[in-house]
Amino acid sequence: MGLRVAIDLDGTVADLSRAMHDIAKKKFRKLQEADPPEPPADNGEGTLATARPALHDLGLRPWELERLWTHVLKIRNFWTTLPEMEDGVVARIQQLADERRWDVIFITTRPLAAGNTTQVQSQQWLAEKGFRHPSVYVVKGSRGKVASALDLDAVIDDRPENCLDVAIDSTAKAILVWHGSFEDLGPAHVRHGVVVKASIAEALDEVVQMDRVKRGGVMRSIKRLLGK
Ligand SMILES: [Mg+2]
Repeated sequence: MGLRVAIDLDGTVADLSRAMHDIAKKKFRKLQEADPPEPPADNGEGTLATARPALHDLGLRPWELERLWTHVLKIRNFWTTLPEMEDGVVARIQQLADERRWDVIFITTRPLAAGNTTQVQSQQWLAEKGFRHPSVYVVKGSRGKVASALDLDAVIDDRPENCLDVAIDSTAKAILVWHGSFEDLGPAHVRHGVVVKASIAEALDEVVQMDRVKRGGVMRSIKRLLGK
């Protein structure tokens, strides 16, 4: 049986930060140049930010970021408009899944944008980038429990806390795509066996390596059974 691999979308294969940065530049240029007005009173929505996909630092104040999110989520089918983290990465995942008979599922915590459901928008984006019939699972809460319930072999994600969750709560190998420095991660990741890679391409190479090891193990077992 082929490997069962889950891949996160934003920050892993989809470049949400770049898309948000481009929109912020267009829409908020004046806001950036002028003296910032007073931030609006906290309406309690700030807590929602924790459920949103992580972004690189866009140089925005928290309430500016809130305003940007509000604007972006009103864009019809926003989730179909993002660039890839690395050109051709989605097509490469399809190719690997074909060649190595992997079951691939894409997981995300994306909030709802105008237009189609998050699941359909994400599927449209993946299909457009070269993945046929993509499975997209919109999760809330622990990815570790999802990895465990779906009996996954590997999970690729750009968030350290998600990877830790997977490493602790499941038997799947957690592969972190991490552009920052290794010291920023803390010892828990090493202790729990999270594999850290500098790009999605390297993370996929790691899964290929896992696949080779697994196949090698199966071949050795067969040979042993045959007395060879
Ligand atoms: Mg992510």
